[in-house]
Amino acid sequence: MAENEILKDIFFIERGYLNANHFVYRSNAPILIDSGYVADVDETEKLITDLGVNLSDVSLIINTHSHCDHIGGNRIIQQRSDCDIALHAVGRHFIDSQDDWSTWWKYYNQEADFFTVTRSLADGESVAVGPHEFEVIYTPGHAADGIVLYNRREKILISSDTLWENDSAVLTLAPQPTSLPAAIISCAQQLWPGRDLSQLSTALVVPQDLFREPDADIQIAGILLASPEFQLR
Ligand SMILES: [Zn+2]
Repeated sequence: MAENEILKDIFFIERGYLNANHFVYRSNAPILIDSGYVADVDETEKLITDLGVNLSDVSLIINTHSHCDHIGGNRIIQQRSDCDIALHAVGRHFIDSQDDWSTWWKYYNQEADFFTVTRSLADGESVAVGPHEFEVIYTPGHAADGIVLYNRREKILISSDTLWENDSAVLTLAPQPTSLPAAIISCAQQLWPGRDLSQLSTALVVPQDLFREPDADIQIAGILLASPEFQLR
């Protein structure tokens, strides 16, 4: 397998600030997990095309949450491919109601475009990325609609922004409390509500954080959490 291939035909793409790392499943019906930041969509297309995937062929985008750096390519890709887009039900509500605070677009003065969510994801359900089954685990905190994706067979966790390298459950608060949106406050209140991921026997965690060293490769990015002492609460 190629160095950036985390499972057969699923490729990890690392990006720089402000952008989220994302994944491409290469097949006749390609699937993307997150789509980067809107301003970088041309580069996103090039990186995906370089893997042999045409954006107009994309069948599904799965978003780990609706922050602008994870959904920025959604609209353009959906316009081109008419693909399905799946989000946690809370994120679907944010997008359907065109809530650009909860999505952090306004909050960080960032850009993004709304799109059509065609599928809601719920905690505990399974989502297929080709032959690879991922369990949806709802992890509100960093984002009210945050999920991580766990492939139980191969013990691979796509941890999104829920779990970063040597860090966990990052929650950013507004510098001006008076402008703190209610949805962000509710995120804080929801931080890890009884969620215990320690039952996961994890061989590889692929985080999608923004702040890793630019030259870090997937070997460094993947945090090995096979240790039985590892507990995340
Ligand atoms: Zn985020």
